[in-house]
This record gives sequence, C-alpha cells and structure tokens, in this order.
Amino acid sequence: SEKSLIVSFGEMLIDFVPTVSGVSLAQAPGFLKAPGGAPANVAIAVTRLGGRSAFVGKLGDDEFGCMLADILKQNGVSGEGICFDKGARTALAFVTLRADGEREFMFYRNPSADMLLRPDELDLDLIRSAKVFHYGSISLIVEPCRSAHLKAMEVAKKAGALLSYDPNLRLPLWPSADEARNQILSIWDQADVIKVSDVELEFLTGSNKIDDETALSLWRPTSNLKLLLVTLGENGSRYYTKNFRGAVDAFHVNTIDTTGAGDAFVGALLCKIVADSSILENESKLRETLRFANACGAITTTKKGAIPALPNEADVLTLLKG
Ligand code: ADP
Repeated sequence: SEKSLIVSFGEMLIDFVPTVSGVSLAQAPGFLKAPGGAPANVAIAVTRLGGRSAFVGKLGDDEFGCMLADILKQNGVSGEGICFDKGARTALAFVTLRADGEREFMFYRNPSADMLLRPDELDLDLIRSAKVFHYGSISLIVEPCRSAHLKAMEVAKKAGALLSYDPNLRLPLWPSADEARNQILSIWDQADVIKVSDVELEFLTGSNKIDDETALSLWRPTSNLKLLLVTLGENGSRYYTKNFRGAVDAFHVNTIDTTGAGDAFVGALLCKIVADSSILENESKLRETLRFANACGAITTTKKGAIPALPNEADVLTLLKG
C-alpha cells in the first residue's frame, strides 16, 4: 500500500501562559496550561486536516506526560513512538509577551525527559514507515537526544522518506548564538523541504535584508533541498525551488495570538505533499498549496494557543472561498 504517514520528531511540553497579557513572568497573577512543542503541534495540525501522523519523542512519566500523551491520542496522532522516562520530568516552559513587546521565556529543562531520548529507544519500524519525516526543534542542543535525532533522520532518509525541517530557533536554550547557527546549518543539507521564519533567515544568514538574495544564500551547492519556504507572518510566505520562486499573500484575519501559525502552515504543506508530491515541481500546484497553508496559519492566529486554534479542512475551505 502507498505510504501516507507523516512522522514528527522532537519535543512536546507544556507552556504556562500568564492569565493576563503584558506582564513579566514574575508579575503574572496566574498561569494557564497550554500543550505545545512545535513537532507535536505539526503532528496535530496534520490530523486535524484529515492526514495521518505519528509523534516520536520522550515524555516524563508524570502527570504532565500523561496529559500530553492523551492530547495526542484524542487528536488522532499515533503514540506508538512515544517513550516515557522513569526519572526525568516533562519539559515545561513559561512564556509571556511583556508590555515592552518582548517575549520572555523560562524553561524547566535540567534535564527534561525529551532531552533524554536515546537512539536505542527509537521505534525504527515506525520511522521507516514514514512518507514524510519532519523534525525541527531543540532536540539538536544536547545529548543523548541529539544522537537520537540524527539517527532518526538517517533511518527515515534510507527508507525513502522526504525530510522536512523547521529549525524553530529558540535562542535562549542554546549555549551561544554561534553554536545554534552551526548546529542548524550542520543538518541543513540533508533536508528536502525547509521552512524558516524571517527572523530565522536573518539569524542564519547574518543579513538584515529579507530578500531573494538572502534566502538563496541558504541554497548551498551541497544541499539536497527541493523547496525552501520563508514565512513572513501577516506578509504571507515566499518559496524557492531550483526552477522557480515567488510569494503568496497572507489572508487578512482578526489576529489574537500567533502561537502555532508556523506549525499549522507546515502541517498543511506536508499533508498536501503526502497527497501529491509533484507539488514540489509544479509551480501552480505549489502556489495553490501555499495559499492553503497560509490560510491554515492565518486561522491559527485567530484563537488563543496553538493546538486549540489549529483548523480543520472545513475551516480552511471557508476562508479560501472568502
Ligand atoms: P512562525 O510561527 O514560524 O514565525 P509565521 O508567524 O510567519 O510563522 O506564520 C506562518 C504563516 O501563517 C504565515 O506565512 C502566514 O501565512 C500565516 N500568518 C501568520 N501570522 C499571520 C497574521 N497575523 N495574519 C495572517 N496570516 C498570518
């Protein structure tokens, strides 16, 4: 039978978000629990659109780990690839948008369960059954999850999966900016599809001009890249392939919280690629796909949180018909 599974690899955690916005973490009167972690968001974005996905990662054998595994299950994401660590606890993040407009992060990761995933714990048969293998997270930062990450990529690639990468830069988690840049670029050439945000493009290239030349400088001669996407928030997205490049406008919506927009965009894109991989070579099909992915991103910004805001296909069709 034809493969259709999207396997998403990396971390899942709980974001604690202040009950009021515009305060520092220290001044928050209380917090709401929001499940997140980019790779988990992508896995759920896929199932919500009617696709098949599995999440591979490690959770703590604690209340939060159980909660996260349940959320994946309730959303139809296969949990066969989830491991639980007996000792370490589930990762936690405290995230706020302060009054000065800056995001403030605090992490419980010393170490959290996701960082302790070992190569020998990977469900290799599950990874081999992927049509698309998506990764993109903080699991490159430390061992042993870094080795697990590299092994999973290698196994997926050997089995013929398309590799999809979203660097998801979380700079405060890295020992230094140079280390982050070097590590992200060290796995760059293996990916078939890469999505970066404008901020990541700036960071990786060191250029403050977000234009085609800057984006194309990431198209290294050694790379395997077939499609590079740059997401630009309310300015939509840009695409680059060997043969064509262009931009697709965003949808105008009433934006409340942009968390998860990039993950919704990636989930939508991967669903479409699984259904028809000729999207990567056909510009009009690609533009149609990016319109769909932009719509998914836009809808996700109209509600608070990431997972609760991810759209189903009917929501997207409504926005597309306008
Ligand atoms: P990331 O979350 O990775 O930074 P973006 O915020 O650029 O990614 O969002 C991904 C996509 O979602 C964008 O390319 C765009 O199509 C859509 N999107 C994001 N923010 C908005 C917004 N404020 N209005 C409309 N669409 C948006």
